[in-house]
Amino acid sequence: MSDLRVRFAPSPTGYLHIGGARTALFNYLLARQQHGAFILRIEDTDVERSTQASTDAILQAMEWLGLDYDEGPFFQSDRFDLYKAKVARLLAEGKAYRCYCSAEELEQKRAAAAAAGSSRFGYDGTCRHRTDQPEGAPFVVRFRTPQTGTTTFLDRIKGPISFNNEELDDLIIQRTDGTPTYNFVVVVDDVDMRISLVIRGDDHINNTPRQIHIYQALGAPVPEFAHVPMILGADKKRLSKRHGATSVMVYKEMGYLPEALVNYLVRLGWSHGDQEIFSKQELIEKFNLESVGRAAGVFNPDKLLWLNEHYIKTGDPQRLGALLAEILASRGISTAGGPDLAAAVRTLQDRAKTLVEMADGAAFYYSRPTSYDAEAIERQVGPEQIAALDHLHAELASAGEVDHAGVEAVFQKVLAATGLKLGKLGPAVRIALTGGTVSPSIYEVVAVLGSGETAARLQSALGVFRAAIKTA
Ligand code: GLU
Repeated sequence: MSDLRVRFAPSPTGYLHIGGARTALFNYLLARQQHGAFILRIEDTDVERSTQASTDAILQAMEWLGLDYDEGPFFQSDRFDLYKAKVARLLAEGKAYRCYCSAEELEQKRAAAAAAGSSRFGYDGTCRHRTDQPEGAPFVVRFRTPQTGTTTFLDRIKGPISFNNEELDDLIIQRTDGTPTYNFVVVVDDVDMRISLVIRGDDHINNTPRQIHIYQALGAPVPEFAHVPMILGADKKRLSKRHGATSVMVYKEMGYLPEALVNYLVRLGWSHGDQEIFSKQELIEKFNLESVGRAAGVFNPDKLLWLNEHYIKTGDPQRLGALLAEILASRGISTAGGPDLAAAVRTLQDRAKTLVEMADGAAFYYSRPTSYDAEAIERQVGPEQIAALDHLHAELASAGEVDHAGVEAVFQKVLAATGLKLGKLGPAVRIALTGGTVSPSIYEVVAVLGSGETAARLQSALGVFRAAIKTA
């Protein structure tokens, strides 16, 4: 175990966004690389906006991506006593103070400052030196922020960053109702959980100097920071639903594999030479913050799809088969008792970019056609085909189980006997077995379906084909 302790700290106010997932991934990869600890903390102090459904959705997405954590999930809503104790301590030490200014007063002051052309909208410090404590009057607790000097930190991604303390006002750390605020609890928790490196979205850069002051007031060491650039759409605007799905789990629903999303998200803004494909183990070995770009990454759905195609092509058929069965089940198609799933997958791996496409292509293996493409019948099926299909049916009905070579031998026999070319028979067989005109190669299909099932389907189709020819 190294001393590295990192955390992912999502607010459960919605699904896990792919930007959040990338932040979680960076934390995870570094923790695994350095044998440190990866901690999950759910920041649910905003009771109005936090929901159990969001927490569940985030946990589910982490699990799907394979981001296992070593400690947690911790919930900030369970830790209010700790925050209260820390507020009390800062008050006792004079590092925080009670502020009795009402919302209306603050609003008036802001309006007056704006009217006077001031660019400072922060709190003016009225209660900083107040000595009386009006009995029963509502108050917030404010942090006594240094008013001079600068606060500097060396960001592991962005480089050195400096703020003038003058620009910071005395922020509220406890609201009138006694609940603590984000900038305060995040520091109390990072101290309590001994976080040594904070990796998070760069929308938190402006909070960092405020948080550094709180670390110092608590007498705690300041961790390192690494602020991850955000993800933009192709139009360089912040990524939103307009650019495609932003929820991790929607990618699952669309038939993406977690390893494709992981590979994509890490490569978005991080590079290692011109290598594109990384297994998770390779990412753990090679990932480093220093090679994360400082500028925002642009989301490229085509590249993600390309990676997904790669992982589908090279995936383990057994595993893909299990995933496929889930999707088919959700469509009401049972795979139990049907053709071997891995065998079905092997015939489709080169033809599908997503698991959803693969399921579209695999459905016929597990449900017999309920109708046949009439136009295709008209084009592809005549008396010669019907005679050959009859022949094929008879051969297969008595063939027992046959492998790919066996299927080919049966076809050769039928073709020789009927004088038809495969190009004239194959399409008719395909319509009979699938109802349509698209499928993997016909030998593969028959080998996967098995001779018994193939014979049964041929028989059903022959009835339909004969009737169609008669009326033609
Ligand atoms: N809860 C914050 C968020 O979801 C993250 C805070 C942090 O990482 O410091 O944006």
